[in-house]
Amino acid sequence: MMGDRIFCRIARREAPAEVVYEDEKSMAFMDINPATPGHTLLIPKAHFRNIFDLDEETAAHLMRVAVKLAPVIREAMGADGLNILNANEPAAFQSVFHFHLHLIPRTFGDGIRPPWISRPGDPAQIKAAAERIRKALEGRKA
Ligand code: AMP
Repeated sequence: MMGDRIFCRIARREAPAEVVYEDEKSMAFMDINPATPGHTLLIPKAHFRNIFDLDEETAAHLMRVAVKLAPVIREAMGADGLNILNANEPAAFQSVFHFHLHLIPRTFGDGIRPPWISRPGDPAQIKAAAERIRKALEGRKA
């Protein structure tokens, strides 16, 4: 898969990146195809393909770092807001198969559009989906 190991190489400082943050378990660096100025990627240094194999402890660490970085990035870029985006599997836009969070500074008028159109769903379908998910969760507990 294209670029499958590029983020592992960046984490080991074997590939170039504009690194802005690093600790024992994680690293943040600039996206080379930024959606907006300041678009940053936050990764675990250990390799996980995506959220489906990520462990909870690493996930918690990454979210703690994201909470630290988000206001700093917003302030540094003079942004009005910020999106956190995460893609898991090609069906969900994943192109680099090493878990990452996109931190995307947002400014009024930046032209970024939401990826879906918000409109009311069929209540019966919503209920059926909720039942499937609750049942799947019950299955996990057993
Ligand atoms: P995703 O579609 O969520 O898998 O996003 C992967 C992101 O990684 C894209 O926004 C790419 O622009 C970015 N990217 C790919 N290679 C590099 C690289 N070598 N350094 C920085 N960002 C990269």
